[in-house]
Amino acid sequence: MNIHENTALLDAFVDGELTSEEMISVQSHLDECPECRAYVDDVLVIRASFPTEDDVEMPADFAETVMKAVAEAPQSRPKKRQPWGKLAAAAACLAVIVLMQHGTLGGISGSSNTSAACDRPRWRPPQRKVLPRNGA
Ligand SMILES: [Zn+2]
Repeated sequence: MNIHENTALLDAFVDGELTSEEMISVQSHLDECPECRAYVDDVLVIRASFPTEDDVEMPADFAETVMKAVAEAPQSRPKKRQPWGKLAAAAACLAVIVLMQHGTLGGISGSSNTSAACDRPRWRPPQRKVLPRNGA
């Protein structure tokens, strides 16, 4: 087996997962091969930089604290209804209708009711014809 191209074998060597015969074989290769020795040294440095479960001391009430925080976390709630949204839309529609009927938005509706209302003659009672009286 070619140790030089087999990093999995070198990783297993670092982890102590090889048989004693394999360990001796890899160790003898490392003694002669600076590349593989550098690889093994890098792996040892990287692994040493990560903490293990033995390095981190957990508080005694860790599980209890986590469960309490989860219980107190806000749950998903249904969306709040916004009654003013629909009411405002209805009021806006009503305002547009009223303004159009009163001619304020006459330009939008296409006809000018305002000027027509001003030009419209006022209602007057029909005038009686005054007939000349005989003998006046
Ligand atoms: Zn090598």
